[in-house]
Amino acid sequence: MTNKEFADILLPNVEKTFEDYKKIYPKRNLPKNAIVTRYAPSPTGYVHMGALFSAFIASKMAKQTNGVFFLRIEDTDKKREIADGVSGIIKDLKNYGISIDEGMISETEWIGDYGPYIQSKRKDIYQAFAKYLIINDLAYACFCTEEELADIRKEQEDLKQRIGYYGKWARDRYLSQDEVLNKIKNGEKYVIRLKSPGKFTNKVVYTDLVKGKLELPENDLDIIIIKGDGLPTYHFAHLVDDYLMGSTHIIRGDEWLSSVPIHLQLFQIFGFEPPKYAHIAPLMKEENGNRRKLSKRKDPEAAISYYHEKGIPTEAVLLYLCTVANSNFEMWYLQNKEKMIDDFDLDFKKISSSGSLFDVEKLLNISKNYISMLKASEVYEKTLEYSKHYDKELYDLLEKHKDYSINVMNIEREQKKPRKDMAMFSDYKKENWYMYDELFKDFKYQFDKITNRLEIKKIIDLYISKYYDVSDKDTWFNNIKMLSEELGYAKEVREYKENPDKYKGHVGDVSMVLRVILTSRTMTPDLYEIMRLLGKNRIEKRFNMF
Ligand code: GLU
Repeated sequence: MTNKEFADILLPNVEKTFEDYKKIYPKRNLPKNAIVTRYAPSPTGYVHMGALFSAFIASKMAKQTNGVFFLRIEDTDKKREIADGVSGIIKDLKNYGISIDEGMISETEWIGDYGPYIQSKRKDIYQAFAKYLIINDLAYACFCTEEELADIRKEQEDLKQRIGYYGKWARDRYLSQDEVLNKIKNGEKYVIRLKSPGKFTNKVVYTDLVKGKLELPENDLDIIIIKGDGLPTYHFAHLVDDYLMGSTHIIRGDEWLSSVPIHLQLFQIFGFEPPKYAHIAPLMKEENGNRRKLSKRKDPEAAISYYHEKGIPTEAVLLYLCTVANSNFEMWYLQNKEKMIDDFDLDFKKISSSGSLFDVEKLLNISKNYISMLKASEVYEKTLEYSKHYDKELYDLLEKHKDYSINVMNIEREQKKPRKDMAMFSDYKKENWYMYDELFKDFKYQFDKITNRLEIKKIIDLYISKYYDVSDKDTWFNNIKMLSEELGYAKEVREYKENPDKYKGHVGDVSMVLRVILTSRTMTPDLYEIMRLLGKNRIEKRFNMF
């Protein structure tokens, strides 16, 4: 039997050959330095921060070189799959402004000429590639059961040998065609393994774009390339897909670093030029002075849904990821405030090879700055959108009082040192609830110096009957000064300090009373602006309420 006939028995019903596929997916016609890369998650339904970080870097690198960024779904591990797992990923990427040039756009559809972009739909392609190896005596059928593999392992442990399916331990590597055909006839299940031409004592030297020059032992493991269910393993799918899809760069988590010798070997066997690799270390978190990996289980901020739920702007998250990726970004951004992330070029060499610190506090600071630079109308739209999903009460208020809310959001905005009390859109309500009558209830007045209720009543009565005037800030403040004077308080803080015995207090204490009665708080943005927006009716109502 020829090798070809033999391969047809091992992997039947595969119509096209590996040569056919090479023609179906022609080489891309792109500028010389264009980066073609991808985000290749399993369909687990969500993206976590570490993955978003890699996806962000990948998409940015493609964009800044006029290359291609695509989304490929790696669903060869059917056990890990969840329903609608692709849609969740697509939504997360979209939310974070990471747009794809090619790849999956729904559970079943894709755009681009190099599809399918979901591995379970590429079974024939992998098998065609595997058949090429079988025909060339570079792959074989392995019938070892779980138990047999466990026995081999046990023996290796006992003999203190390196664990794995290689060399003399690779039992089925040495089966004859007839033996294989007999086993198949007997209904024995099999996988296809690579017949590795490597030697463990040889070294592979390669330069990782992030980790630098590395020397690793050559691969001599006869790794599985096609599993019992006919689907490929990660290693083999990586070779086939990234070759056919024309990936120039593989940007992925550094848990794959030790597999590089396998991947280089596969590319070499097929005579393909290998892609460049950039292995990204996990994001780190500082805890009690120690660094550990940001954990999906322990750290809520590791889930990107966290940012959505709190209303942390995606732009701020991306700005922060850019800072984490290349620490020189921060300085650049400070000096180029009007520019966007797109104007900055990321550099592989500046990515930390040991893992960057992910500091949520810092992200929130960036977010505060970001929100403070927005126009009130933008804050309005974004807060409205946020509340639509997460705070019905706020949503209704914002809809009902649109112009008023925009005015509230405009207090101390669009000025040299804008107000910075919002790191997330959920802060809006926390910081401004008192501006809405509907929310101005169930609170405690936090009085400061003047606490005597009769005295307070005197102040507000006299204010509203004689001194209320918000036509402009000077008039407003002068009136409060006169009010203070009439009630025995110093008009100026300085006067009070010079002669404390002469006064009951000073103008600051009096305006504090107004502030607390109107907002319940001692700390608020500009009181004049607040009073102007509240207007006389509301102010009187609140005085009466007290
Ligand atoms: N599916 C692999 C993972 O999620 C992709 C790694 C890669 O980018 O090649 O880890």
